[in-house]
Amino acid sequence: MSTATEQRTFDSLNPVTGAVVGTHPVHDAAAVRAAVAAAGPAAEWWAGLGWDERRRRLLDYKAVITRDIARIVTMIHEETGKPKADATLEVILTITHLDWAARNARKVLGPRRVSPGMVGLNIAATLEYLPLGVVGVIGPWNYPMFTPMGSIAYALAAGNAVVFKPSELTPGVGALLAELFAESVPEHPVFRTVTGLGETGAALAADPGVKKIAFTGSTATAKRVMAACAENLTPMVAECGGKDALIVDVDADLPAAADAALWGAMSNAGQTCVGVERVYVVDAVYDDFMRELTGRAEKVRAGEDYGPITMPQQIDVIRRHIDAAVANGKAVLGGPESVRPPYVDPVIVEDVPEDSPAIREETFGPTVTVKRVADAEEALERANASAYGLAGTVFSGDRRRAMDLARRMRTGMTAINSVISFASIPALPFGGLGDSGFGRIHGADGLREFARPKGVSRQR
Ligand code: NAD
Repeated sequence: MSTATEQRTFDSLNPVTGAVVGTHPVHDAAAVRAAVAAAGPAAEWWAGLGWDERRRRLLDYKAVITRDIARIVTMIHEETGKPKADATLEVILTITHLDWAARNARKVLGPRRVSPGMVGLNIAATLEYLPLGVVGVIGPWNYPMFTPMGSIAYALAAGNAVVFKPSELTPGVGALLAELFAESVPEHPVFRTVTGLGETGAALAADPGVKKIAFTGSTATAKRVMAACAENLTPMVAECGGKDALIVDVDADLPAAADAALWGAMSNAGQTCVGVERVYVVDAVYDDFMRELTGRAEKVRAGEDYGPITMPQQIDVIRRHIDAAVANGKAVLGGPESVRPPYVDPVIVEDVPEDSPAIREETFGPTVTVKRVADAEEALERANASAYGLAGTVFSGDRRRAMDLARRMRTGMTAINSVISFASIPALPFGGLGDSGFGRIHGADGLREFARPKGVSRQR
């Protein structure tokens, strides 16, 4: 970071080559205050535009993103190192959410008459959801567009202005998203970015002009953000990490379950909050499942099928988890030698004790533990024995049992016979329990997260 000039700056780096991708300002507390202050009138103007005009502008933004998809993909690829195909998928998924939020905001939030609920009461009751004002969004680097836009698109559609603090690893993606928005909404700074390290995020969380914080990142940082929010009683959404489990039941489609486990664990080099990190397989099908899984995983190579570990410090966490898993469990594929920075090849370890960090803590790497269990009930019990509760997966041939297991899984989201599919369905809420955080983004609940219910009773 440079401090010599008046305006402090920092560089984002390509995690593979180390080349500087871009140089960005460090917005200090004063700069954050100024951005939030400017966003205040912008929020009022945006809220006053009305549903139809806001929808039109947001759909125009979608068209601008689509037009510039190659530019965005390149920026995501350069700042995270992920393959361009994965970056493209990220942009497409984001567009799906932006479209849904724009088209459904009025239906979910607009005014409606409700029954007064009391016979003989001559009162008309109206309910609507009003914008909050300025929403602060603090984002991570692993999906630098999809993840923050899961809050930003819904907050904008609900009629708020947004000040966005992207991860210090991916400021270029954040700046580009705001720059493109200004093409569709040039009049006021309705969506702008402030860049910097954690202190910039801390200043945003502590600003009294911010009416809600949507935070996505680690559980440890969420606690610090929540403490800052407490100063002004600023409400927040906390989208944190996970330790997601995949259950393979006795009658599961094993090739499909192996495909899902592999993709869920290894895609994006395992740097996915809803990535699969634990697999519980019913005894009767364990050996067949493992044959399917290892046969596929042996062909996967870091640097070809998925990208590098974006954040260099994360490699130490991954190495520690692999070492602990291998020391007390049985390596099926790879091991400590799989770590070749900035890449980590797939690692599969069996029979890791439940108190191992590889079972208890988020690894955020292309490693997965597999355990043989007596039946689906034991699988569910072990899956639920986690401080996290973000998402999970059930593979079963029995629809009723699968649904029952999914509902009893102590997570915000569960996929049946597919993996992570809930994230691509805009109508479904996204968020977790316990150490995975609270509040919901996406869907109608995500829209309401960025609005305040207002009830009016009128005597006739
Ligand atoms: P992080 O907690 O290190 O950083 C997240 C953001 O918080 C960054 O922008 C950072 O600059 C900012 N920050 C740091 N200190 C701060 C402070 N004191 N006050 C305010 N802001 C501060 O997380 P990360 O490494 O960027 O992201 C990875 C984590 O994010 C993983 O745990 C992953 O599971 C989680 N994640 C969760 C979801 C979800 O939707 N649940 C999605 C993606 C990632």
